[in-house]
Amino acid sequence: MTLSDCICHMPPFSYLNYETIEFGIDETNGRFAEVSIQTCKHCGTKWLNYFVEIEGFSSSIKWFKAKVEASFLDEITPENAVANIEKADWHFYGGSYYGTEVSIGRGKIHVD
Ligand SMILES: [Zn+2]
Repeated sequence: MTLSDCICHMPPFSYLNYETIEFGIDETNGRFAEVSIQTCKHCGTKWLNYFVEIEGFSSSIKWFKAKVEASFLDEITPENAVANIEKADWHFYGGSYYGTEVSIGRGKIHVD
């Protein structure tokens, strides 16, 4: 994998570095995940961002994000966001569910 040295590739992340467009809510399995597209203000990379809060647990935030090509945005919906993150070469994931670290994963993501 090649990691850019742009700030959008270096956790911890700040929303201040992105233009964020709320894309919709994925209600699959009643999870009401927030799907957004973040565009890095510095390098223009677009990130598909999936944020889910699992009810009933105290440490319950999970988020995942993967780079997407601008030309591909038309094909993304809130419902296929998970599949698109899984299809990416790699993704970042984090949130209180995983402790304080941001990690890099590949393939299957566990959103429930
Ligand atoms: Zn960037």
